[in-house]
Amino acid sequence: MKSYDRLFIDGEWVKPVEGGTFQTVNPSDETVLADVAAATAEDVDLAVGAAREAFDEGPWPRMSGAERGAILRKIAAGIRERLDELAQIEVRDNGKPLPEALWDLGDAAGCFEFYAGLAETLDANAEKPVALADGRFSSIARKEPIGVAGAIIPWNFPMLMAAWKVAPALAAGCTMVLKPSELTPLTALELAGIASKAGLPRGVLNVVTGLGQDAGAPLAEHPGVDKLAFTGSVPTGSRIMQSAARDIKNVSLELGGKSPFIVFDDSDIEAAVEWIMFGIFWNQGEVCSATSRVLVQRKLYAPLLERLTEQARKITIGDGLQQDVLLGPLVSRGQYDKVREAISRGEAEGARRLTGGERPAHLAKGYFIEPVVLADVPEDSWIWREEIFGPVVCVRPFDDEAEAVRSANDSRFGLAAAVMSSDLARCERVARLMRAGIVWINCSQPTFTEAPWGGYKQSGIGRELGEWGLNNYLEIKQITRYESDQPWGWYIKSERSE
Ligand code: NAD
Repeated sequence: MKSYDRLFIDGEWVKPVEGGTFQTVNPSDETVLADVAAATAEDVDLAVGAAREAFDEGPWPRMSGAERGAILRKIAAGIRERLDELAQIEVRDNGKPLPEALWDLGDAAGCFEFYAGLAETLDANAEKPVALADGRFSSIARKEPIGVAGAIIPWNFPMLMAAWKVAPALAAGCTMVLKPSELTPLTALELAGIASKAGLPRGVLNVVTGLGQDAGAPLAEHPGVDKLAFTGSVPTGSRIMQSAARDIKNVSLELGGKSPFIVFDDSDIEAAVEWIMFGIFWNQGEVCSATSRVLVQRKLYAPLLERLTEQARKITIGDGLQQDVLLGPLVSRGQYDKVREAISRGEAEGARRLTGGERPAHLAKGYFIEPVVLADVPEDSWIWREEIFGPVVCVRPFDDEAEAVRSANDSRFGLAAAVMSSDLARCERVARLMRAGIVWINCSQPTFTEAPWGGYKQSGIGRELGEWGLNNYLEIKQITRYESDQPWGWYIKSERSE
């Protein structure tokens, strides 16, 4: 594996000021993948300084949207050209199966293409007349880039989470500092190289790898940052918001979830099982919107559990680079221990483990866990209420629609929800009752670059993707002109106004 011991600051690959590194590990075999540059506050200061100068003096915010769009398209092409290689890096760093990594990388390229399209039309749409009741004035609302963005991202979809922030920020004309997760830092560094090759001016995208406390916290606290865009856990999100409060920084947060899936008893059982499995076992269940709470109407409860258990046992587990593997290892030793503990806690609270939860016998090394189905999970249990971030589905029965809606909404999270029934009117009705930012009908998880993504309640603030994602990185300025030929005449009473 090549060296990743440098940060990308002001268009250059530089060693961290303190010269430190940390290790990123392949979760399939627990071997060290690479020594990675460990940024500290001094490096973050240099990176923010570079982004600040690029914003205040550099060409990027002053280019036309079409010019920025052309570079975003080159970044997308750069990703597509190296799709296989980047996907393999992602598998080694994160553990996910190769077809999923290829899907992520294709989506990341698509995200740059989508925001290239929005950048190309931004100038034409940047200024909008505002109708004023007072006819002596005319006014417009104008969109402008917000400034320097600090983006902090998690480890579950490393390149895709980077794209969700970098693409709209750059499209808007912002400059930025990106801090990837210390567990999966490699593809963010690759992205810096791709962007530089695509002609992105120096200082526009800076990438600082490092630990949360050493590199993330100084970025969140830096007075030179105008906007903080964070994806990660609720406790860190809360800390980021507190840091932002001091300088009144604009913040958007994409946090955790405990997303319900309501299955009515007129559903096709095979379709229900397939979408539940896609919802909770895709990406090892390390998905913020994972289908982690399943509510099944009483008549379907036993047969659905039987079929789900049978299918979960058939999932091929192993190194994500091996053919036919559908479930890779969890990302780290820490995550593995956390998920194992959560399963034990769930059983102690009365949940019935129907399958999974052990290390597969053929895998001596790596952070592998067999997919878990927990039934009869009590509504007030910790495991029903808290995010586990692993391949663990909690299931319980319900009797009627009102009970399902109440139970689904009974959570401090509100990222996603799903409902399945052959009665579409019922699906549409229930979808509108969900207190969640994303609701799927007769499916779960498909995510589209064009549509808004984000949560209610403690799942976050703001929306990413689509036009909403671009708005995260735009300020709105009012420009108002006095049109009347009459003097204002409040203090100075001229002859004409008398
Ligand atoms: P995390 O909060 O531990 O870390 C996220 C990022 O924050 C990492 O880059 C980390 O280094 C950094 N960080 C940690 N402490 C920091 C601090 N004090 N100041 C600044 N930065 C700091 O989360 P994680 O374990 O990497 O990711 C899992 C979480 O992310 C889950 O809760 C999941 O639901 C959430 N998530 C949400 C979405 C979404 O779109 N809503 C998407 C993916 C993941």
